[in-house]
Amino acid sequence: MPEQTYFQVPEGQPVVANLGMGVDSSAIVTRWLLEPQSRGFDLDQLTILIASVGEEYQRTKDAMEQCLFPLIARHRVRTVQVARAGQSVKEGYVVLDDTRTPTRLVTEVPVTLGGRMLDVGTVPQVSSTLRACSDWIKHLPLDSWLADHVGHAPFVHCIGYSAEEVRRAQRDLDGNKGHRRPDFPLVRWNWDRRTASDYLLAAHGREFSRSSCYFCPFQHSLAGRETLAASWRAEPEAALRALLIEHNALVMNPNAKLFGRHAAHEFVRDAGLHEILNRHHDRLAHLDWSVYEVRRVYHARKGDPNVKGHAYRSVEPLETGSRTAMTALLSDLAAEYGGTVEVDEHGIARACLRKAGTSYPTAEHALAVGPALAPAKERETFNAVFAEVTQGATSIAARRKQALATAA
Ligand code: SF4
Repeated sequence: MPEQTYFQVPEGQPVVANLGMGVDSSAIVTRWLLEPQSRGFDLDQLTILIASVGEEYQRTKDAMEQCLFPLIARHRVRTVQVARAGQSVKEGYVVLDDTRTPTRLVTEVPVTLGGRMLDVGTVPQVSSTLRACSDWIKHLPLDSWLADHVGHAPFVHCIGYSAEEVRRAQRDLDGNKGHRRPDFPLVRWNWDRRTASDYLLAAHGREFSRSSCYFCPFQHSLAGRETLAASWRAEPEAALRALLIEHNALVMNPNAKLFGRHAAHEFVRDAGLHEILNRHHDRLAHLDWSVYEVRRVYHARKGDPNVKGHAYRSVEPLETGSRTAMTALLSDLAAEYGGTVEVDEHGIARACLRKAGTSYPTAEHALAVGPALAPAKERETFNAVFAEVTQGATSIAARRKQALATAA
């Protein structure tokens, strides 16, 4: 990674800076505007690009609207806010704002990541190298806007990796091709998160914090737990959204804890946020509930029956009604189809009808009761694959449909 503080961009070549609204990218924009010698290009060349996810903490919105946007507006830098237009890729993206005098972070977006998580009954899937969630909610609108507005012209793409994130920057460089020239000013300046944070404090007179979705799993790092508790205490709606997303996911999969090995509801309890937990349970009590039929097929990895490969999942709400009625229905269905109802560590009632085997492919089949938030979802071939792996088993939904047709 070359070390240099100054980076001369050819005259007229566009520079696009992704503004993630956290400490790193905010520090870059602030320094560029306050210290012109740190840039190496004219401000007319610069576009600040923001992907709005609609579920940012109020503190992030405040930092943008009270500090960064006024500074950007004074320097009249083009600032574009984009968002994903819908659940499907075909729907593309929308431009929420395109101005040289930004004043408001637009949080009314057509689709949110939280909405997507509820719809598919899961929590954000993240690892140190993979962020499927940010690819879904941020990269599509960002990349689509770049394709439409920069096209194949050479441009500099500024990303706010800090000096601690050299590996991520190197991965970006390694995978880069074509007309895009990535630039990582904080790495070039050798600015770590602390330096960037101190700079922002000195420049704006306030602390900037990490920007994230309310329910981002990365908030639960060892160093971040106190901040997370403080964030959720200050913005209970953020915590309630996270708890709802996790509960919905746990209905489909008891291992789908928001923080990997740790569940958000346990974190809230252990952090003493009892009022939030009570409100969460109160909200659950006022929702409609469903009995879900959840089936999975686990494939063999590379054909090896001893190694678990990818999974297919089918989710089907069988009936919807009050929680009491659905819990009673679960007992009836379990008795009829040979399962036993158990309440798991998350307080979710489920009945296992088929356990997954230890060689692959294999299948599992369960019923569970949860808030009526997730629609039916399965790939077209699921039933055929499930029948093949189980030697002809069918879903309860299909059997009930068949029974109704026969009775009619
Ligand atoms: S902030 Fe966290 S949850 Fe949101 S998109 Fe990024 S990695 Fe995913």
